[in-house]
Amino acid sequence: MTDASSAQLRALPSVDRAAREAGDSGLPRPLVLAVVRRELAAIRARMAHRDGHAADEQPIDERVRTQIRSALDDLRLSRIQPIINGTGIIVHTNFARSPLPVSVAAAINQTAIHYSNLEYHLAAGDRGWRGDYVEFGLGVLCAASAAAVVNNCAAALVLILRHFASKPPRTHVVISRGELVQIGGGFRVPEILQASGATLREVGTTNKTSLQDYRHAMDDGAAMILKVHRGNFFMNGFVESPEPAELAVVARDAGIPFIHDIGGGAMFDTTDLGGDEREPTAAEAIADGADLVCFSGDKLLGGPQAGIIVGSAHHIAALKKEPFFRALRCDKLVLCALQETVDLLLAGEAERLPIRRMMHIPESELHRRAARIVAGLADLPSRTTIGSSFAQVGGGTLPRTKIPSVTIDLLPRLISPSRLLADLRVGRPPIVGFIHDGAVKLDLRTIFPEQDEAVMAALRAALCGTVIG
Ligand SMILES: *Cc1c(COP(=O)(O)O)cnc(C)c1O
Repeated sequence: MTDASSAQLRALPSVDRAAREAGDSGLPRPLVLAVVRRELAAIRARMAHRDGHAADEQPIDERVRTQIRSALDDLRLSRIQPIINGTGIIVHTNFARSPLPVSVAAAINQTAIHYSNLEYHLAAGDRGWRGDYVEFGLGVLCAASAAAVVNNCAAALVLILRHFASKPPRTHVVISRGELVQIGGGFRVPEILQASGATLREVGTTNKTSLQDYRHAMDDGAAMILKVHRGNFFMNGFVESPEPAELAVVARDAGIPFIHDIGGGAMFDTTDLGGDEREPTAAEAIADGADLVCFSGDKLLGGPQAGIIVGSAHHIAALKKEPFFRALRCDKLVLCALQETVDLLLAGEAERLPIRRMMHIPESELHRRAARIVAGLADLPSRTTIGSSFAQVGGGTLPRTKIPSVTIDLLPRLISPSRLLADLRVGRPPIVGFIHDGAVKLDLRTIFPEQDEAVMAALRAALCGTVIG
């Protein structure tokens, strides 16, 4: 080792000193120390690797400080925290899908800090069933005779597959090749099937599957017909797939269940959004003859992450008896949030769901807010204007529905648009926007009106707080 590099190594601060010099990150001290140790080790390794090469121009202390601060910032930013969604994607899987109504959050709060009758029958003074009430409500909401709730729709499907398709000789899950899809959040239908011990029995082709294709697969190995709603893309032209009601007949004739994974879980009519497409509702899927229908709680239902299964009482009862069900059950906070959301839907108050309000808020209203924001930022070094865009429902639903929307468009004068976009992401609160036609855009449709002030403050900080870089 050269003298220069061993001198550099000796000049490295102690863990304690480096932690002190990094300033207050607001993180628990054991985390700070762990990060400092990791970064110092990395710096040491880099020095040893660079042995004999020219040293960096920057003084070692400053380099260490910069690297540790940025590592601590990274860690702090990775904490789960509220962010402002300027993407215009209403149900954004990376942003925790559906924001909950304030009344739902208030109910969670009360349940969280107190004891609750989660598994206790108050009238009988005896052990009760977790989620009894919400299951009854979901049954009524979906016009189904029973319901069960698990952690997410993927878990619902795994439970269904394990119950119906893992007992030889009946292990074949009959599914159209056109439905072997990947849905956002890394949900791949073929992988879920394999993980559940089921055998994939593909029928038809990517674009065309006929009723006859299904009928041919109804042999001794057939365990169920599974239909998966292709919510996140669409096929046009030479396409064919049988109606759910027709599949229900084929399954019934073969004496096996017909399972419909509708994914989105819309409880309202989605044709009012201007697209020429609509999401199937659970009630429709049940009416079309599905034995079981599953969907997510946090997509179009507008509730917490959950997987909901509705359908015939004896199938639901059998699923709940599966030992595996125990591993998929939800906690009190989720069940409480779902209960409040379902009650709200049963009361006909879907419009109180933030996702519904965002879908329906008139452009004129967004325009009024945009005008106020743009006027408030007129003194900043940026050409800030009111722009337009198309918001999307997201959550793997309604891919062709584009909701006209209003944006704040920014062309910063002192920094590049991509730099502004990045600075906004790491601001307080973090704001996620997008770049279109060279401008940074924030779609107001997915920004809560009460966040407008925070948006203005964050833009001010990002546009003024930085120099050309
Ligand atoms: C989103 C989706 C899933 C996965 O749901 P999670 O609740 O994220 O597990 C499954 N099937 C379909 C059709 C979906 O759209």
